[in-house]
Amino acid sequence: MTSTTVAFPVFCKDEKSSANEKGLHKRLASTVKNINISFISNRMESLMHKIKSFFTYMLILPTLFVCACSTNPATGKRQFTALMSPAQENSVGAQEHQKIVQQYGLVTDKKLNDYVTALGKRVTEDTERPDVQYKFYIIDSPIVNAFALPGGYIYVSRGLLALSNSEAELASVLGHEAGHITGRHSAERYSRGVVTSLGAGILSAAIGSQGASQAISLGSNLYLSSYSRDQENEADTLGLRYMTRGGFAPQAVPSFLYSLQRQSDLDARLSGQQGNRYNYFSTHPATDQRVAKTKAESMQYPQTGINNRDAHLKAINGMTYGDSERQGFARDNNFYHPELGLKFSVPQNFTIKNQPSQVIALDNKGSLIVFDMMGNKEGYAPLDYIRSVWMKETQLQNLEEINVNGMKAATASFPGQINGENVVIRVVAISWKDRFARFQLAIPRGAKAALVEDIKKTTYSFRNMSANEKKTIKPYSVKIIAAGVNDTVKTLAARMPFKEMAEERFRVMNAMAKGTEVQSGALYKIVSE
Ligand SMILES: [Zn+2]
Repeated sequence: MTSTTVAFPVFCKDEKSSANEKGLHKRLASTVKNINISFISNRMESLMHKIKSFFTYMLILPTLFVCACSTNPATGKRQFTALMSPAQENSVGAQEHQKIVQQYGLVTDKKLNDYVTALGKRVTEDTERPDVQYKFYIIDSPIVNAFALPGGYIYVSRGLLALSNSEAELASVLGHEAGHITGRHSAERYSRGVVTSLGAGILSAAIGSQGASQAISLGSNLYLSSYSRDQENEADTLGLRYMTRGGFAPQAVPSFLYSLQRQSDLDARLSGQQGNRYNYFSTHPATDQRVAKTKAESMQYPQTGINNRDAHLKAINGMTYGDSERQGFARDNNFYHPELGLKFSVPQNFTIKNQPSQVIALDNKGSLIVFDMMGNKEGYAPLDYIRSVWMKETQLQNLEEINVNGMKAATASFPGQINGENVVIRVVAISWKDRFARFQLAIPRGAKAALVEDIKKTTYSFRNMSANEKKTIKPYSVKIIAAGVNDTVKTLAARMPFKEMAEERFRVMNAMAKGTEVQSGALYKIVSE
């Protein structure tokens, strides 16, 4: 969970509704009633919206669709890009960049930023778009991700830095993203008539601020939603060109794509195939085809060039791994949010999943806990809030005021269903600073009294972190170590704080094939507490 109420990921179409709290209320209320449907329906809604907006734009801007082609200097292709001039690209990029910063947060560590920027400059020194000022940022996200905005904005995530194993591999990603910019892939999509922020800017006066802000939030998704397969292939080709011009070894392109593929498989296994967080793989599928194609293409370049494995590992040493203080993180059955300074605990046998806009905990018997926060600018009392806002349309039972560790709160329950199973849903709203901390606790009907009691404890475990906890409870970090004479994959993996698949994780993050062993004296990444 990110630390502000409205900090939803800019990528995830469904979660992004910062300007639309009402919709969020509705969605979360339906979350526990029918846990696995809301994503689909929201996606449909968003699609319908897009289609509608598209026609609105076509009606208003027909005269601009004249004389619209130009030759792209990077690809040599004729492109239909009339609506976005380089100057417009800059202004769109600058505008979207603000949203990325607000919604994701950037890693501010100067050394790490200098490192990525220096690599990026090397890769983009000699592109066909010298007019573009390339800028490089690290987004504070554990998800493996990279993307670009028009105007030269290139982003890589902490998760991607942690997965890459050499300067050349990181350069391959920066080159690929630069390829989207020089290929003007966003502009191309945009000019084909898809709504973007720019259009919203032009039209804001005409259609009123509300319509404009809706268009803006739709627009920002479009840059980041998936490119076509042709555009991906083109970005791979251009990326290879740029990274080799920067002096890096071309084989790093297929090798990192292969790592991405392995990480994607591992994520799927770790999450039991439920990984629906937006990530690099959904826009950049690292298919066998892409690995094979870039391997063949890389053979056309001189097989020289540098990898700089150790320098890369040293540069990322100490970087936060996994969820950061800004996102909050789980340790055993506790959830901590050091930036907000709060914590709560779930029953022992529950698994916590920290998602961008909420924290979910599940057991394997059909119980579910959903935690999130919602602003309370109106200053509602908890009981009124549950009755008149949050659960307005629900027939509530046992609505009452309670006290949670000195904080005013209220609770109520009602019958519901999760995946066809009858459950009792208890909602709790705790008044916390200028907002509500909210629990939705779903317990199968007829559950044992002990389980009901255990889950109830979750509500009363909610409290502020102590000064000592804030000092001692830290996110994980990447640690670079040299393997000792007696070290094996097994001994190094055992130093990581993972109970599940530690060896597989170690192999994927160090790009080690199955059956291979560590070499004494060589550097490796581990995750450290
Ligand atoms: Zn791409």
